Amino acid sequence: MKPGIFIERDGILNRVRVERQHQVSPLTMEEFQVNTALAPLLSKLKEGGLLLIATTNQPGLSRGYQSRRELERMHEALRRALPLDDILVCPHDETDRCPCRKPQPGLLVEASFKWQLDLDRSFVISDKWQDAEAARAAGCTSLLLQSPWVGKAHHDFVLPDLEAIVDKVLSLRLRTKAVAA
Ligand SMILES: [Zn+2]
Repeated sequence: MKPGIFIERDGILNRVRVERQHQVSPLTMEEFQVNTALAPLLSKLKEGGLLLIATTNQPGLSRGYQSRRELERMHEALRRALPLDDILVCPHDETDRCPCRKPQPGLLVEASFKWQLDLDRSFVISDKWQDAEAARAAGCTSLLLQSPWVGKAHHDFVLPDLEAIVDKVLSLRLRTKAVAA
């Protein structure tokens, strides 16, 4: 079983607009700006033996304001720009009470079956508390980027930038390997 790294899409892998203190997900290719500067950092994680999986809540799919086709176009662009192994989407609305809308851990659990991942040795990177909560429920280590959305829920680390987050993941990986050996 491999360890994975789950990375929140909006605010980490692509830019978001902020309106009234809330992040607004891009809905079209025109609005979709991939954070291409992340590519070398993600490659480092991949070389560190981690499977890279983007996760995202896109309630616009069930509410009807996000087209499935446009989302697929955006995700093709994301895969072209960044070395991701998979992109997992919760298409549900909060009122659907699904098990996959973060902070629920459903996407992480689904990925662990699909990719044979060891969740105890896996990591979650995000700028929002919902991902840290999903990480806690699934048994992963959470690393949050300092942001207005970190919240008060449990998280393992809050760091100032993505370079620091990637370095922390790699040093934690080395430590686990040393313990295992
Ligand atoms: Zn869902």
